[in-house]
Amino acid sequence: MTDLHYPDCPIPFAGSHVDFAETERGDASLDRLQGHAGATAILLHRGQVATDGADLLRARPAEVAALPLADPGLIFLGLEGDGDPVFAASLKSDEMFPAGALTDLRLQGHRLAPDALAVAGRARSIFDWHRTHPFCARCGRPSVPAEGGAKRICTACDAEHFPRVNPVVIFLVEQADAVLLGRGPGWPPGYYSALAGFVSPGETIEEAATREGMEEVGATLACHRYLFCQPWPFPSQLMIGLISQAADRTVRIDEKELEDARWFSRAEVQAVFDGTGGAFLRPPRTTIAHQLMKAWLAGQ
Ligand SMILES: [Zn+2]
Repeated sequence: MTDLHYPDCPIPFAGSHVDFAETERGDASLDRLQGHAGATAILLHRGQVATDGADLLRARPAEVAALPLADPGLIFLGLEGDGDPVFAASLKSDEMFPAGALTDLRLQGHRLAPDALAVAGRARSIFDWHRTHPFCARCGRPSVPAEGGAKRICTACDAEHFPRVNPVVIFLVEQADAVLLGRGPGWPPGYYSALAGFVSPGETIEEAATREGMEEVGATLACHRYLFCQPWPFPSQLMIGLISQAADRTVRIDEKELEDARWFSRAEVQAVFDGTGGAFLRPPRTTIAHQLMKAWLAGQ
């Protein structure tokens, strides 16, 4: 694998060029935009995205709308370029796709250009939310999509529901010139990554990282530094990337969460990234963990 597509864009799945177009989501606008000469629709099937090399396969929205589509039908992602509408549809059948076109973003996302990956990730998250939220969380009756898939409205009590994003802290623990990496049960042999956990209600980002560090590896953490964050569409997390200081190199693993956690020296991590050493298997470059390690090596 090369870093061909990510020389200057450190955060895969971010940086979509498609404008959400908040003011164009009324029914009349959406009808007009579907008929726009430059309108296209990207295509998904069960969470996978149809691609053609580094780009997304596209079709005319009118053609797509005639096919059997998964809930919520055609969604409006927004406007690109000089105002060309971009839609997305999740097809019930995979029959129309050329062999090999359906792409698993988690395993094969690195093949896509950064823009395409960001647009595809957003569509994947939105479809997953609709698929798992067909009923009103307030009264339990069916809800229907509205505003081009930007929300759902209850058919009984009119409650509005919006796609939810779940914040996760992902933190690279450092002490002097080493980092602490962990591996979960069932991960590929030798694979180690940064520690991570969901932010709980009532917590700050820093408090979540401190708690997770103590729970997962028994580390006393402080001085959390925010570097960058990443939308992670599996199904809908916002990964908040930190570098956190450990008081010492104590490691006491919570075996329900982790299979192992070890300190790796800067030289070991550098060698893994240079391809000259094999102290561990690094996360793929589409992950924020990979980007955090790279930033740490660069002295950030
Ligand atoms: Zn309701």
